[in-house]
Amino acid sequence: MSVEPVELALNAHLDYLEDPQHVLSLDDVRRPDLGWERNSDYAFNKGFNDSSWWLRMRLTNPTDNPQPRLLEVGYAALDHIQIYVLEGDRLLQQWTLGDKQPYFQRPVDHRYFVVPVTWDAGQTLEIYLRVTTSGSAKAPLTLWGYQRFHTVDFVNTLVQGFYYGGMTSIALYNLLIFFVLRDRNYLYYVAFIISTVMTLAAQSGLAFQFLWREATLWNDLAIVFFTAATAAFASVFSLRFLRISSLSRRLGVVLRATFTLNVALIVAAFMMPYHWAAIIVLVNVLITIVVVVVAGIFALRSQIPSARIFMLAWSLLLSGAMVVILSHLGVLPVNLLTEYSTHFGSMLEAVLLSLALAQRINTERRLRFQAQADALDASQRANMELEERVRSRTAELEQLNVRLQKLSETDSLTGLANRRFLETRLREEWARCSRQQRPLTVMLLDVDFFKEVNDRYGHPAGDACLQQVANVVRGGLRWPADVAARYGGEEFCLLLPETDSSGAAAVAERVRQRVSAETVQVEDAAFTVTISVGVYTGLPVAGATPEDFIQRADAALYQSKQSGRNQVTVATG
Ligand code: GH3
Ligand code: MG
Ligand code: MG
Repeated sequence: MSVEPVELALNAHLDYLEDPQHVLSLDDVRRPDLGWERNSDYAFNKGFNDSSWWLRMRLTNPTDNPQPRLLEVGYAALDHIQIYVLEGDRLLQQWTLGDKQPYFQRPVDHRYFVVPVTWDAGQTLEIYLRVTTSGSAKAPLTLWGYQRFHTVDFVNTLVQGFYYGGMTSIALYNLLIFFVLRDRNYLYYVAFIISTVMTLAAQSGLAFQFLWREATLWNDLAIVFFTAATAAFASVFSLRFLRISSLSRRLGVVLRATFTLNVALIVAAFMMPYHWAAIIVLVNVLITIVVVVVAGIFALRSQIPSARIFMLAWSLLLSGAMVVILSHLGVLPVNLLTEYSTHFGSMLEAVLLSLALAQRINTERRLRFQAQADALDASQRANMELEERVRSRTAELEQLNVRLQKLSETDSLTGLANRRFLETRLREEWARCSRQQRPLTVMLLDVDFFKEVNDRYGHPAGDACLQQVANVVRGGLRWPADVAARYGGEEFCLLLPETDSSGAAAVAERVRQRVSAETVQVEDAAFTVTISVGVYTGLPVAGATPEDFIQRADAALYQSKQSGRNQVTVATG
């Protein structure tokens, strides 16, 4: 095979030999009659196994010029690689590489394993590789011209720089949002992004190249560690972001279990052989993907607002990973797009999830506003109802007050004003008449021999009699300002403002006559009563009191009694 092309994929020009016991030396494998087999068109890949693998190729420089080349083993996670360059039986060059060797031992500073080999004019070289690894035994081999190598590497570096720069910005930005909002979803999201980025960095050898050049033990572990962390944060983020627990308790438990399983794996990875950890983490990742996708579909079916973006985001990442696998299987061509489709998928996923988080905040804010508006509405309604109730209660109270007022001013037996009300009105009218120098009349009316009525007809008959007399007394009123009151027992009082003594005498006489003309009808008897009346009319003057008017009327009443009852005495002056 000629070394001429500046980019030569060596996969199809490769023989391989398995050494399960790790016993064969370079001399051993160079013996004839060993079971060498030809590799396929695709990168040498034997998956997880415990063997050592020998690879060999034979290349000739048919030109007249020396051809300097770079031989690249394009898989960063190989533990041990021995490379031998022979011309015939002569060993020209030899390297010990692998990520179990400190980074600085590499002849070319690169994340993959790259060694310089030069073919002299017409020279044929045999190259042997011995690969031993606890992970996947995979070795994509390419022979590069220097120029071409650097051009392709530059583009690769650019794409990766774009990816890591972009992802770092997204992570930092969302971390800041977490600090502002204190929403734990953002923290899980950022942790998920960082784990994803670190997984890819560890797998691609970039982390070894830039972050932990001498930590050869940790380097293997890092891939398991970050892959499990990615799966762990993916499950807890999905759990919280989609509020799975409120949709389905069982699914919530499954997601929590997935999270716990991944966390346990992170811890266990430090204690078990890498070989096993790597296989378990792969199984775990598959389980996590299934659980997260099921959760997404469930949320989608339950119409969770952000479920659609969530599912789209995950589909993009999974599609990206799928494209890489398909291109490695030869179904899709290997190019920049297919090679970095996991990176592109993961970046699109990060952007979409960030969008979904923002959308969720938005939805929540809208719901909160709605709830606030509803609460305001309800409180306004409650206030209005309360005001209405207060209004009607106040009206009721006012009515009650009026009734109470009336009751407190009224004599219950006769319905006339009572003595207290009379005295209040007397004071008011006395003051008014005093100011305006108007005459005021006070008239006391007393039923004659009332004790006998009681004695003869009984107390209830006496009450009925008092009611009838009261009605007649009420008939003595002429003006709104006049007051008819029950003064006590069988004694009544008429207060007549603006009434002179002749008017008062006329009223008194009329009432006296009407009482005496009235027949009192009780259950089984009928009788008549008479009244004696004392009238006093005067001008309220300074130094006098309202009580004076009562006393003067009482004196006149006494006079009527003394003079034989059933008559009116008018006092003046
Ligand atoms: P006089 O002509 O001197 O006024 O004789 P009188 O019997 O009316 O005298 P007196 O004032 O001593 O008696 C009043 C009686 O009226 C005494 C009391 O038993 C009776 N009496 C007072 N209030 C009521 C009442 O609300 N109902 C009834 N049935 N009797 C009353
Ligand atoms: Mg009497
Ligand atoms: Mg009396």
